[in-house]
Amino acid sequence: MSFSDRELGMDRKITRRDFMNGMAMTVSAAALSQRPNLFAEEASAQVQEPQNERGYDPPALNGMRGSHQGAYEVAHSLRDGSFWRNAAEPIDSGETYDLVVVGGGISGLSSARFFHEAAGKQARVLILENHDDFGGHAKRNEVEVDGTFLLGYGGTYSIESPAPYSPVAKRVIRELGIDVSSYASHNNDALYRSLGLKQKIFFDRETFGADRLVTSPYSRWGITESDPSGKNWKEFATQAPLSPKAVADVKRLYSLDEDLYPGLNSDQKKAKLARISYADYLLREVKVDPQVVALLQAHPQPLYGLGIDAVSAQDAWGLGLPGFGGLKLSPGPGPGMGRDAIHNDEAEAYFFHFPDGNSSIARLLVRSLVPAAVPGNSASDIVTTQIHYDQLDQPGNSTRIRLNSTAVRVRHVPDVINAKEVEVSYVQQGHLYTVKARHCILACWHAVIPYLSKEIPPAQQDALRSAEKVPIVYTNVALRNWQSFQRLQASSIYSPGCYFSEASLDHRVSVGSYQCTTNPSQPIVLTMHRYPCSPGLPSREQHRAGRQDLYQTPFETFERNIREQLARSVGAGEFDPARDIAAITVNRWPHGYAYQYNSLWDPFWLEGGPQPCVKARQPYGRVAIANADADAYAYTDCAINQAYRAVSELTVAKLPRG
Ligand SMILES: Cc1cc2nc3c(=O)[nH]c(=O)nc-3n(C[C@H](O)[C@H](O)[C@H](O)COP(=O)(O)OP(=O)(O)OC[C@H]3O[C@@H](n4cnc5c(N)ncnc54)[C@H](O)[C@@H]3O)c2cc1C
Repeated sequence: MSFSDRELGMDRKITRRDFMNGMAMTVSAAALSQRPNLFAEEASAQVQEPQNERGYDPPALNGMRGSHQGAYEVAHSLRDGSFWRNAAEPIDSGETYDLVVVGGGISGLSSARFFHEAAGKQARVLILENHDDFGGHAKRNEVEVDGTFLLGYGGTYSIESPAPYSPVAKRVIRELGIDVSSYASHNNDALYRSLGLKQKIFFDRETFGADRLVTSPYSRWGITESDPSGKNWKEFATQAPLSPKAVADVKRLYSLDEDLYPGLNSDQKKAKLARISYADYLLREVKVDPQVVALLQAHPQPLYGLGIDAVSAQDAWGLGLPGFGGLKLSPGPGPGMGRDAIHNDEAEAYFFHFPDGNSSIARLLVRSLVPAAVPGNSASDIVTTQIHYDQLDQPGNSTRIRLNSTAVRVRHVPDVINAKEVEVSYVQQGHLYTVKARHCILACWHAVIPYLSKEIPPAQQDALRSAEKVPIVYTNVALRNWQSFQRLQASSIYSPGCYFSEASLDHRVSVGSYQCTTNPSQPIVLTMHRYPCSPGLPSREQHRAGRQDLYQTPFETFERNIREQLARSVGAGEFDPARDIAAITVNRWPHGYAYQYNSLWDPFWLEGGPQPCVKARQPYGRVAIANADADAYAYTDCAINQAYRAVSELTVAKLPRG
């Protein structure tokens, strides 16, 4: 079945469709092009900042968000070598600070917070951020559908980490007023269960020969069979468009008791599994039908941004994927196990999801830095607070947050050894400015840093460049109702062969005056995730190809894929994409997760040896380096921990830990 544009609703007006490429409505054309050589003669430090204009409200924008148009062009021209060729003389803003932070994500905001702890409340801090909002990956999406206000997370989704939060990170969370242990009182996911909604698998005809929505007989990570009665297995066996051998092989994976590596002890088996991909393990050792690999292909994507072709069998075992029963492996990690695959009960229990994800953490951090910009006084009211963006960069603030500003150069004056200050150059609205500071923290992506500073030794630059970012797309689709999902009894759909491998009705979470809807006839956010992979290539090459793919894909392609995938997967429940989709926000993250080391691709991780992130994060002169990249760990606690370390490296003041 194929759909016409009209059936898909491509001609429908969706909320603020005009901003489909994610332009902030108040950002002028000059800001979007950010060409540094333009308008130099008329530029002055007094140019009105976009964030100070009336109605400036980035979370309310739909269309292409995440790395939106206007945020990355300057950095890409720096990368391509064209920036300085075309640049006019920088304008000296005359501003001096105790600290300039490059990057307004959770690590940059935490850096400012820790610096104030060390240097005092009156210390003067400037944060430069190239996007139109603060928070980095911790991005908030808002939309109003038929009178209902809906929130969504555009990136960083929750307080969670495979390993326990450090005392420092826990202290920050606690001091911001977040009571992680209260999560159960906010969360009503039992609603889906009470309505009989389940995890589903969508088999697509291009991969499996037929479009079919089937109840998943096992839980998301395969840890347990979710169906002791056998009803779902029966449905799976009769409905899934798989060969009889493939169906039998899926079932066999859960009951496998054959020792495929006789003669090896548990440690030796883990060492072997660390060197083979899960896909190869299934095909060569367990000898499953290739359709089984196609079915399981996308399982690790939400953690690794990679499919089972590029994730080790040992990690698959750690994640709870099936096929290892007969090996009788001892509990605990083996050599080179991925950090995501190591289970920890304490870490698992420390979980909190705000309706806008960890954007609420970013907003609470900003409240602590610039109180006038974020009214309110609790971690509950933060969810509905309207940010006063025009207060973020006022001269009287001890911390100023300057958005739409791409740092392009960081250098010591006169040189690293003799410097008393650092000069930071940045572009805003096509103008090139300089500010000076006693210290600088680079809380931006590590791969960007070699383009900002030529003062860093070559080996450290190589280490910084190796922090390959993982490309990801988090899409929020605002639906007028979810009756079709109820009819099909689907709360989430895993679609291993489709453009978006995951689609889930958003968590039912209420915080403060934000009360989530509970009736299927009311609007809801459906989150759809895409991980652009190139199976068969090494991990870093897959990420590079995926990044290219995301930058080249227009909003219209995402929209068409969303509409068509939903029409095909939930159309049988009377879903009509033209009628039921009210708004689409595509959060495109070509520079997504920090790259985490992987035993298949990073020999030093498996064999032991220096980790590039340790070399990469070394301070030089008056500059320290933060960001989640600094520990190769894509989690919020890491962003906080690395900010703490970076500030500690710059100051002699003793910072409190827990
Ligand atoms: C889609 C997605 C989902 C995630 N989900 C979770 C989750 O559920 N839980 C979790 O703990 N972690 C999650 N993460 C990981 C997330 O990266 C970290 O939790 C954390 O938010 C990282 O913060 P950061 O400040 O280190 O980096 P970032 O958030 O990336 O912030 C760095 C900032 O620096 C800016 N910057 C870069 N170059 C420049 C420049 N030259 N000038 C000015 N600014 C610059 C960037 O634009 C960015 O805004 C997720 C990440 C993604 C992409």
